[in-house]
Amino acid sequence: MPLINLSDPNQCVGFYEAVKLGLGRQQGLFFSPPSQWLPVAVDELLAMPFVERSGEILSALTGGELTADEMTRLTRQAFDFDAPLVRINPSVCCLELFHGPTLAFKDFGARFMAQALALAKRQSNDERPTTIVTATSGDTGAAVAAAFFKQPNVRVVVLYPNNKVSPLQARLFTTLGENVSSIAIDGDFDDCQALVKRLFDDPVMVEKLNINSANSINISRLFAQVCYYFEAWSQLPEAQRSSTSIVVPSGNFGNVCAALMAIQLGLPAKRVIAATNCNDTVPRYMQDKHWAPRPTRQTLSNAMDISAPNNWPRIEALFDANPALRERFCAVAISEQTTEHAMREMYQQGYLGEPHTAVAWAAFEQLKQDDEQAVIIGTAHPAKFAERVEQIVAAPVELPERLLQVLQVPEKQHRMAPDYEQLCEFLCNS
Ligand SMILES: *Cc1c(COP(=O)(O)O)cnc(C)c1O
Repeated sequence: MPLINLSDPNQCVGFYEAVKLGLGRQQGLFFSPPSQWLPVAVDELLAMPFVERSGEILSALTGGELTADEMTRLTRQAFDFDAPLVRINPSVCCLELFHGPTLAFKDFGARFMAQALALAKRQSNDERPTTIVTATSGDTGAAVAAAFFKQPNVRVVVLYPNNKVSPLQARLFTTLGENVSSIAIDGDFDDCQALVKRLFDDPVMVEKLNINSANSINISRLFAQVCYYFEAWSQLPEAQRSSTSIVVPSGNFGNVCAALMAIQLGLPAKRVIAATNCNDTVPRYMQDKHWAPRPTRQTLSNAMDISAPNNWPRIEALFDANPALRERFCAVAISEQTTEHAMREMYQQGYLGEPHTAVAWAAFEQLKQDDEQAVIIGTAHPAKFAERVEQIVAAPVELPERLLQVLQVPEKQHRMAPDYEQLCEFLCNS
């Protein structure tokens, strides 16, 4: 059983079980300790095509519980879009992870999870319908809804704060229909999150509707993200591979955790820099060793407005297993003003970036050492934040085909007060 519950080491489960459960007992995260991973031949991996290489990596992370062939079947369907590495200047490239159906990196994890959950259910002859309930401040809801769209035996319900998600972001899930419903909650993101938490703490509802959450806690989403760091390195010139660092705009620290896992597997990157906005719990913790989340503040990079990053225990588990990894990690917080400045600077160098990517750019500008290069992670398409981007860089942003399409389709959302009884009634009767 390759996955252990970090809060209750007595609970060890296989990959399929962890995908179905999401969270372990005592709200514990599942994780596979590096001692359980299979060794990989990095040079050979870097020479392979993306989908097959990803199958090998994912098989190694489950300690071989799933074979590379089994994993490759999942990744072939999940990773059916590119992750190009685009050079901005001689020392900085952007790994563009926003060419999937909902234009943000979360498509990789959500689509892989959709495939893995379907397989997990087949493996255990579990034909009960699953209800996936997810609260979103934007990108997660879209990625999860699109990933499970039309999947048999699965229903997706997206809760989002009414009028607090950008209209384009909302349209990516409100226009789908079929097995996807969305509910605009009259409240903020925390109200949506509280409803979902209450649902998961309600054993009657969980049992009755077979509820899963598909949030970034699910180990399958994290595993999937390890793959694209190897894809980036396969596209880097060989001479730069060991002097290049990974710079990740971070909120829940899942993406950064995946980068550290890639290094632990043998990716020859120099170090990992986590870049946050003013929600800076981790950068402060790295300085003074006090874990002291403060109230969350709204910023331009709203997908990172998180003050209690829920993947941190997995990162600590990696550092405990390999203290040398800690030396290759640092974190820095970037102000709003510096983020705007970075967007203009990138634009002057011919690259249109959005606020999250700009936070990573600014972090590298601040921390870069002599002869260090960077792969900054492009987490979302600039068109998702078109209004702000146009204001800040004073240039028009072209909408990609996918967004133009959803603008043509009528929305089908429901609307509800943040009321738990009403939510239960909706879930049971619709
Ligand atoms: C989710 C998200 C992030 C933060 O990623 P974490 O894995 O939560 O740290 C950054 N940028 C964008 C655009 C996102 O949607």
